[in-house]
Amino acid sequence: MKFHEYKAKELFGAYGIPVPRGVLATSGKDIEGLDYPVVVKAQVLIGGRKKAGGVKFADSPEEASRAVDEIIGMDIRGYEVRQVLVEEAAEISKEYYLGITIDREERAPLLMTSAEGGVEIESVPDDKILKRHIPPFSVLPPYVLRDASKFLGLAKEEGKAFSAIARAMFRLFEKEDAELVEINPLVLTSKGEFVAVDAKLMSDDSALYRHKEFQGMEQDLTPLEREAESKGIALIQLDGDIGVIANGAGLTMATLDMISLKGGKGGVFLDLGGTDDPEKVKEAFRLMKKAKPSVIFLNIFGGITRCDSVAQGVKEVLDEEGIDVAVVARIKGVHEDEAKQLLRDAGFVAVSSLERAAEETVRLRG
Ligand code: GDP
Ligand code: MN
Repeated sequence: MKFHEYKAKELFGAYGIPVPRGVLATSGKDIEGLDYPVVVKAQVLIGGRKKAGGVKFADSPEEASRAVDEIIGMDIRGYEVRQVLVEEAAEISKEYYLGITIDREERAPLLMTSAEGGVEIESVPDDKILKRHIPPFSVLPPYVLRDASKFLGLAKEEGKAFSAIARAMFRLFEKEDAELVEINPLVLTSKGEFVAVDAKLMSDDSALYRHKEFQGMEQDLTPLEREAESKGIALIQLDGDIGVIANGAGLTMATLDMISLKGGKGGVFLDLGGTDDPEKVKEAFRLMKKAKPSVIFLNIFGGITRCDSVAQGVKEVLDEEGIDVAVVARIKGVHEDEAKQLLRDAGFVAVSSLERAAEETVRLRG
């Protein structure tokens, strides 16, 4: 489960990680008791808000109030902003990165830190990031903290403050069953103090039963994801442009993998589940069309599902309202020949090989 920045910062505060003073607001009238300048930040469960215009600076209450009203209602890559965090701005002398996650291969927590903070960690070269495993069920060992302080080039007092934050972060990581805790940027202020200017926290859903306080926490869905949910269809919007409809979450993910192997990028993930009900298939295509993919990849493996029933649903959407992008179908299983014929007659590409279908999809994305 992903936490909003303001929620993550509440927890940071409780564990002794310094965070800026701030208030949550839904309108320009909500801000009181802050010193200026402030930063107004969109609360959406997606990074890169500053680039998208979701982080604004203000020198006075009037300016802040205007910034709040500008950001509320904004669409940040499909996410509607409904609340903002208004915080006293930190005077930045340097931005660092600090994160803890699980390294599944090593079966251990992994601490990562870099002196190149404030940018996406994926874009930081590997030799600029220090990675150290943390022995599970222990505290953060002093040698890791010494390595980190040295790697970051911190002075003695700075190293102490940094280490206290890293230790608190690891306590939080363990106690709250986190999968990822990240501070980017961890800021060193002009007064020589560290403060967590951003906060990212993801907790392990399997441990949710141990955290009654997290249950029912609202999750951001895009309007399309919300619509799909209300219709009982599993749909997730991603960063790419190719729409994927498959039956079963495993097959859908394998399809996304195959597409990226062939050089494409999935934009929507739609899992039909075990259904071959043409009505449901029609609904799925309607939702998919709203996401405006560059091409649709339909991957059906018919074990119990009848491929021709699925194809029938596709044909009905085409007859009733048209589909204005190319559809590539990979059909395998019960009644596959009938299904392929039906789809080919309707003008779609229909093949049995997953690999060929993925290649064709990437070729047709235009
Ligand atoms: P993100 O864009 O979603 O990662 O949002 P962040 O909270 O990380 O803010 C993006 C960037 O805005 C940071 O890397 C800083 O450079 C800048 N920023 C955010 N808060 C402050 C602040 O309090 N003071 C200053 N000077 N810059 C800030
Ligand atoms: Mn950030």
